[in-house]
Amino acid sequence: MVPNTMLDQARARLYEAARHLNITADVLEKLKSPRETTQARLVIRMDDGSSKSYPAWRCRYDDTLGPTKGGIRFHPDVTIDEVETLAFLMTMKCALINLPLGGAKGGVRVDIHNLSATEQERLARRYVQCFAKVIGPNRDIPAPDVYTNSTIMAWMADEYAAIVGEVTPAVITGKPIALGGSLGREDATARGGYYLLLHQAQKLGLRPGARVAIQGFGNAGKHIAQLLGAAGFKIVAVTDSKGGVQCSSGLDVDKLIAAKRQGRSVTSLAGSDGVCTLPADELVSVNCELLVLAALEDMVHAGNAARVKAQVILELANAPITPEADKILNAKNIIVLPDILANAGGVTVSYFEWVQNRQGDSWPLEQVHARLKTKMEQEGDAVWTLAQEKGITLRSAAYVHALTRLAEAIEVQGTQHFLMG
Ligand code: NAD
Repeated sequence: MVPNTMLDQARARLYEAARHLNITADVLEKLKSPRETTQARLVIRMDDGSSKSYPAWRCRYDDTLGPTKGGIRFHPDVTIDEVETLAFLMTMKCALINLPLGGAKGGVRVDIHNLSATEQERLARRYVQCFAKVIGPNRDIPAPDVYTNSTIMAWMADEYAAIVGEVTPAVITGKPIALGGSLGREDATARGGYYLLLHQAQKLGLRPGARVAIQGFGNAGKHIAQLLGAAGFKIVAVTDSKGGVQCSSGLDVDKLIAAKRQGRSVTSLAGSDGVCTLPADELVSVNCELLVLAALEDMVHAGNAARVKAQVILELANAPITPEADKILNAKNIIVLPDILANAGGVTVSYFEWVQNRQGDSWPLEQVHARLKTKMEQEGDAVWTLAQEKGITLRSAAYVHALTRLAEAIEVQGTQHFLMG
């Protein structure tokens, strides 16, 4: 069967991984579709007195390993297929990185740039009102994703507390530090990828001074730029949704971050210090050793994969490479550090935040970093070794590694949950 939805494509990777394992049919039956997806229409009052509505979803894909966990995305193109696919990826990611959590995802189809701060707050609170029965600190724990941030998480946590009648910080992660957020959550996704990359740099053939191109300059993109820049890598090109810039002698990361903080695109740096504009769709073909994908899905596809010049790709975004593009990159011997491993730092530190909230504790930054580093290196090594042993790509090995853990849990779980539905 030809995969035609995003979820079909993701499932194909699951079935591919299953071919390398001796697992029962029950495992694939359980993992082939989401456990539950809830849909709502969020009606909010606008500042001018009118009302508007936005479609919204929350998918709890699988909770075999623990309460489900996953971000909430505010984006004009969000669909149920995307939400379910991202929830599936979260399921595999949590298993891969060995967290006692299942996978979930949420989304609202909205262009947040058209909403004032008070409208955004009403939307965030409405989301929690509509999904309060789905989420919960022992059931399903949201977090930030594309175009949502710690401020939005704070509004959501506050709304949940009002609904259940008690302060419940562990219901949501990625909160501001002042409201029980974890130190180190802000740059955790990029830092996890950075630890993985440095640990495997020799095997990947990457040396300090290597040239880096980064697609997307939000949370994941700007932090990886900072970390790699400080480690001696040269950031030669970056893009955001408005376009891009490049400079062969290296871009000034601090200036790029300052521009974004002031609400300007990275393109505003073009024209000085040898910085030239770069059309967004040309980023993947920039001359560099490392390509970091930190924007959205399907950015490297059959139409542009052949133009990739990097020797290594770090997938900080979820599903940025289509299966067709994967084959082309593989044929070119380009190594892809796959999303469910490379961007697992975000959910790992979210998990640390949840643990701290449940303990009523707060860990020092060094402890968060040390634990994150250990996780990324250990699981990264396991995936690398599996890939070598089985002669498969790192992506296939990542799925095999995750599926091994999920299969073991599903097989010992018994059948009561099938009977209960
Ligand atoms: P963000 O909203 O902070 O940033 C998204 C960035 O992508 C923005 O700079 C935006 O301008 C840019 N962008 C949008 N369309 C683009 C295009 N066509 N070309 C280039 N850039 C474009 O989001 P984020 O949190 O950094 O998430 C980015 C990716 O990382 C997503 O796939 C997300 O699911 C994934 N991710 C994020 C986290 C996290 O903790 N934030 C964790 C795991 C995975």
